[in-house]
Amino acid sequence: MLPSNQTLSGALQQKGVNRRRFVKFCTAMVATLALPPRYVAQVAAALEKARKPVLVWLQFQDCAGNSESILRSSHPSVLEVVLDLLSWEYHELVMAGAGHQAEAALERVVREEKGKFIAVVEGAIPLADGGVYCTIGGRTAWDIARHVCGSAAATIAAGDCAWDGGLVRANPNPTGAVGIEEAVPGAKVINLGGCPQNPANTAAVLVHYLTFGELPAMDQFNRPLFAYGRIIHDQCERRANYDAGRFVQEWGDEGHRKGWCLYKMGCKGPQATFNCPSVRWNDGTSWPVKAGHGCLGCASHRFWDTRSPFYDRLPTVPGFGADVTAGEIGLGVTAAVAGATVIHGIASAVRDRMRPPASPEPPTKA
Ligand code: SF4
Repeated sequence: MLPSNQTLSGALQQKGVNRRRFVKFCTAMVATLALPPRYVAQVAAALEKARKPVLVWLQFQDCAGNSESILRSSHPSVLEVVLDLLSWEYHELVMAGAGHQAEAALERVVREEKGKFIAVVEGAIPLADGGVYCTIGGRTAWDIARHVCGSAAATIAAGDCAWDGGLVRANPNPTGAVGIEEAVPGAKVINLGGCPQNPANTAAVLVHYLTFGELPAMDQFNRPLFAYGRIIHDQCERRANYDAGRFVQEWGDEGHRKGWCLYKMGCKGPQATFNCPSVRWNDGTSWPVKAGHGCLGCASHRFWDTRSPFYDRLPTVPGFGADVTAGEIGLGVTAAVAGATVIHGIASAVRDRMRPPASPEPPTKA
């Protein structure tokens, strides 16, 4: 059933989320958005008054990892509050309805909430042979995506497959898989790359949208700057070892046990952007490099093709082992796309806090 003039604060009270927990959530979201702390009150006030927006979550060529990522979060502030932020009307993995009943729920949203609901897309969309390689209820994913995302207020591409085709699009891409922007040109899309996307970033995008009425400032790939504006290498706790020339030479060696830099083991951190080192995973516990594995660059464009072989060291990193910032390295390899960044929304506040590199990521081959 469609809701809802119910406000978020009403929903939260009903759910037993107390004020303290709510403000804690707002504080975490403001930090994730890289906003100054003074925004906490504004975010809290906006969320309290906001009407719960309707959300539909579509799954196409995917592994359900992005659904798992957000649903498996045990962090109460993310799990409870984010689920309460929205009226989830359609999500194949978790909804009680099935078959015609489920498809009718999706149609009802498109019809009754046209231009107002939020769509989340997980998975790539195959275009080869008319899109026959992914069908749901007798319709192709391509047809469903055009119908639903074309009617949404905004579409969140959750994870790499929905952003750029991800693993499904890796060479030789037999199904002609693409991301949502290519499948539905003209749809208003924000891309949350990563394999999977980080639920804290998804929540922050929703909070920004509910607070300011627009999507956050984005880069040239339509990814939010707060999450993709900084090079991983510049945020890494192993960076001092890189600068000092202390490198892991093989898995399990003394350097590995001591937490030295993983550059020689194939870490792509010097050429990848993401807030993985600060937001982390498993409720902020850790991230791959902290756990002892190099960054694969999973939030980079077409990373299965452009960042592999994953265990080969980056071929040329100017200043390797010397005192040079990854920002300089990033600028060296990405000058061609400088200036392409799209700034809007609360960009000035983001800039205050983040000072992102002029061009956060190297251009990649089409
Ligand atoms: S190369 Fe990788 S492990 Fe080493 S400092 Fe950079 S991001 Fe960290």
